Amino acid sequence: MGTRYNRFFGPMRDAVMRWLFWFLLLLAVVWWVRRRFFAQEGASRPGGEGGRAQRRRGAAGEAEPMVQCAHCGVFVPASEAVSAGGRTFCCVAHREEFARGGG
Ligand SMILES: [Zn+2]
Repeated sequence: MGTRYNRFFGPMRDAVMRWLFWFLLLLAVVWWVRRRFFAQEGASRPGGEGGRAQRRRGAAGEAEPMVQCAHCGVFVPASEAVSAGGRTFCCVAHREEFARGGG
């Protein structure tokens, strides 16, 4: 009975093995393409410093770092502060005055 078993399942097992080979190959290609795509997406993402500053405060009570104006000393949220030359100011007017040396 062993002979009949092999005659029937021999070719079938061969086909299954071939199908499994192509399936694994396809799986490897899909995995490789996906990994490549995601790596590219992460690399080409622009540094979100500029975009994050423009984002409005939606959630109430969201913690935001406070910075001090170099001209008048008032504290303002980092997103609303005006920065120039490594210093931060509460508004453009104070930045201009500080640059003029009025301070
Ligand atoms: Zn100021």
